[in-house]
Amino acid sequence: EAIGVNFIDIYHRKGPYSQQLPFIPGMEASGMVEEVGKAVTEVRKGDRVAYAMQTGSYAEYTAVPSWKLASIPDNLDFRAACAAMLQGMTAHYLAVDTFPLKKGDTALVHAAAGGVGRLLVQIAKLRGAAVIGTVSNEDKATVAREAGADHVVIYTEQDFEKEVKKITNNGVDAVYDSVGKETFEKSLNCLKPRGCLALFGQSSGPVPLFDLGLLSKAGLFITRPSLSLYVTNRKELLQRTGDLFRWIESGALKLKTETFRLKDASKAHTALENRQTSGKLLLVP
Ligand code: NDP
Repeated sequence: EAIGVNFIDIYHRKGPYSQQLPFIPGMEASGMVEEVGKAVTEVRKGDRVAYAMQTGSYAEYTAVPSWKLASIPDNLDFRAACAAMLQGMTAHYLAVDTFPLKKGDTALVHAAAGGVGRLLVQIAKLRGAAVIGTVSNEDKATVAREAGADHVVIYTEQDFEKEVKKITNNGVDAVYDSVGKETFEKSLNCLKPRGCLALFGQSSGPVPLFDLGLLSKAGLFITRPSLSLYVTNRKELLQRTGDLFRWIESGALKLKTETFRLKDASKAHTALENRQTSGKLLLVP
């Protein structure tokens, strides 16, 4: 019914995360269960489900390990459920487990109008943190502010390190950095002593080799997390999707989606690659 487009689809297509050919892209979708294997107990034929972390979703049918399927609550539509899966679970694990934000913390979120970024801003606010978001233009600044960011820095025009230092006393507690190469060094400089940098993506390119000795000045922490390490079994999947679906149903988490026809998948990729999008991109077969 709906297919999620994620930045990783671009890495798969272009080669940084190479795949064996023939290859069907896509790591997220929602739809109906058409058929189940003999040992499957989690879902039944006809169930409305959504999944992430399984390649092959740019297609009408996909075989998915049953533990990865989340049942969609009755009052959530297929598109909303799909939009919550990969980027939603990522934002969830980052704010809840990688650096568990709490009231009084300040977080810096790069690409704050993006798919993960916009959800991460909202979840950070739900947990009581103050949020500084970075974006590349004024339209995206509006999106980030509407998501709840307390401060927004247009990092293509302003030096975000200087701006963060002006806004905070001695830096932020956590930086969630999905941009990588172009932001990494300044992201570290934005942290307060013993702060944590969660480098979870590389939209601008991979971070070059780094001298760990540089962390000793402020006792900083760096982690390079990935969704598959934070959703390793059905219990974790249901905990994260349970929170996300509940927040969406209650209006606490607001989605922003843009829809393309499946046959226009290349247009969705071009837009995402060229920083022309905000929120979630969906393909509809
Ligand atoms: P986004 O919607 O965030 O799109 C990428 C955004 O990155 C752009 O909109 C742009 O925002 C910003 N950006 C900055 N520099 C560049 C550049 N040179 N080229 C392209 N974009 C740039 O994508 P997703 O939400 O799908 O993914 C965000 C990142 O998180 C990706 O790197 C992805 O691989 C990673 N990720 C990691 C996961 C994990 O578990 N480790 C899971 C999910 C995603 P702006 O214009 O405001 O700068």
